[in-house]
Amino acid sequence: MRSKYDVIVVGARCAGSTTAMLLARRGYRVLAVDRATFPSDALSTHMINAPGVAALRRFGLLDAVIAAGTPAIDKFTFNFALTDGPVSLSGRPLPSDGIRTGYAPRRTLLDKILVDAAASAGVQIREGCTFDELIVEDDVVVGIRGHDRDGVTVEERARLVIGADGRSSRVAKLVEAEEYHTRPRLQYQYFTYWSGLPTDGFEIYSLPSRCWAAIPTNDDLTLVVVCWPNAERLAFRADIEGNYRATLELWPEFARRVDHATRVEPFSGAACANYFRKPYGPGWALVGDAAYSRDPITAQGISDAFEGAELLTTAVHSHLNDNLPYEVAMADYQRIRDQRRLPLYEHTTQLARLEAPSPELEQLLLAARTDQAAMDGFVSVGAGTISPTEYFGPGNVTELLERVGR
Ligand SMILES: Cc1cc2nc3c(=O)[nH]c(=O)nc-3n(C[C@H](O)[C@H](O)[C@H](O)COP(=O)(O)OP(=O)(O)OC[C@H]3O[C@@H](n4cnc5c(N)ncnc54)[C@H](O)[C@@H]3O)c2cc1C
Repeated sequence: MRSKYDVIVVGARCAGSTTAMLLARRGYRVLAVDRATFPSDALSTHMINAPGVAALRRFGLLDAVIAAGTPAIDKFTFNFALTDGPVSLSGRPLPSDGIRTGYAPRRTLLDKILVDAAASAGVQIREGCTFDELIVEDDVVVGIRGHDRDGVTVEERARLVIGADGRSSRVAKLVEAEEYHTRPRLQYQYFTYWSGLPTDGFEIYSLPSRCWAAIPTNDDLTLVVVCWPNAERLAFRADIEGNYRATLELWPEFARRVDHATRVEPFSGAACANYFRKPYGPGWALVGDAAYSRDPITAQGISDAFEGAELLTTAVHSHLNDNLPYEVAMADYQRIRDQRRLPLYEHTTQLARLEAPSPELEQLLLAARTDQAAMDGFVSVGAGTISPTEYFGPGNVTELLERVGR
C-alpha cells in the first residue's frame, strides 16, 4: 500500500519546519510532528548571523521577522582584555548572498513563523505529538510510532523519516548514528533579558575564562548571555545572579549600563556538546542539531539548521525525483555539509575554551583595530561569512600586518 506521506519529519523548529516546508514546496507529501505546541520558547539564545538571514530571505520569511519589530543588527563590536589593556574591534560582516545584517528574533516568534510557513506550503503539522519509536522493516525505517497529548497512539508511514529533533535526538539514538569530530562541552552559559539596556548593535566581551554578549531583540529588550568554562558550571550555578553580575563587573563600563537596566525574565542556562553525526541511513536522515551541533559561542546553530534543511531537501529531491541512488544523494549531503562546516566548527570549539589570546592573536588584534577592512574581516569570521582558515591564514595575516605597518 502506498504511504500517505513521502516524508515524516520529527521536530518542527528551525531544522524541522524548514525542511518540511522546502520539501512540500517541491510537491512532496510531508507530515511534521512535534511534542511542543507553537508559539513556544526554546532553550537557546537566538542571534542569527548573515548566512541565516540570507536563508530566511530565500525562504520568503525575512519580511515577517522584520515586520514583527525585530531590530536589525548592523554593527558588531568585539571587546578584548589584552595583556596591555582593553582593545575593541568594530565592524560589519562581509555579505552573505548580499546580506550583512543580523537579527535576533525571539524563538517564540521565529519558530512560529517557520511552522506557519510549513503549514502554508501544505505540510501537515501535528503539534503536541511525541515521537517514541521507529517502525523498521527489513532493516529499513518505514515509519514512526508516538502518542498525542491524550496518550492515544499515533502510527504513520513514509518513504523517509527525518529526525529534526534537536540535540537530544531520539531518532539519532535509535538508529545509532555514528558520531565524529566530537568535542566535550566547553562552556556553560546563562542568559536573561533586560529592558532599558540599549546596545550599539551586537557587543561581545572576551576575557580569559569569561565572555559575554549583549544582543538587541524584540520588544526593546536586550539579551545578555554570560559564558564560563563548562568545568566551572557548578560554581556558576551555586549563585547564578551573583556570578552573572560579578562577571559583568570585569568590564565596569558595561556593568554600569546594566545598573540602570531591569531584568525582566528568569535566567536560563545550558551547554552544548560538539559533534557531527552521520546524517543518513536506510529510510532515515538527520538535520539540524540532531545531525550536527557546535558550541553556541559563534551563534551558528540556526543558520546551520537552515543550510542543512536546504542541503537535505536537495538530496531527497535528487533521489525521489531524479532517481539518483539514495546512497549517492545522501553521501553528497553529508560531504557538502562537512566540507562547509568543519573550519568554523574547529574555530568555534577553540573559542569556546575561553582561553586568553595567544601572543600572535594579540598582535593581530592590535593591528586590526586600526584598519576598517581588517575589522570587517574579523567580525565576518564570527558571522560565518569568511572562513577562519582564510582570515587567520598566513597570507592574510602577513598582508594585514604589512598594511598597518607592524
Ligand atoms: C544555550 C544555547 C544558546 C544558543 N544560541 C544560539 C544563537 O545565539 N544563535 C544560533 O544560531 N544558535 C544558537 N543555539 C543553537 C540553536 O538553538 C540550535 O542550533 C537550533 O535550535 C537547532 O534547531 P533544531 O530545529 O535542529 O532543534 P531544536 O530547536 O532543538 O528543535 C527540536 C524540536 O524537536 C522536538 N522534539 C524533540 N524530541 C521529540 C520527540 N521525541 N517527539 C516530538 N518532538 C520532539 C522538540 O520539541 C523541538 O521543538 C544555541 C543553543 C543553546 C543550547
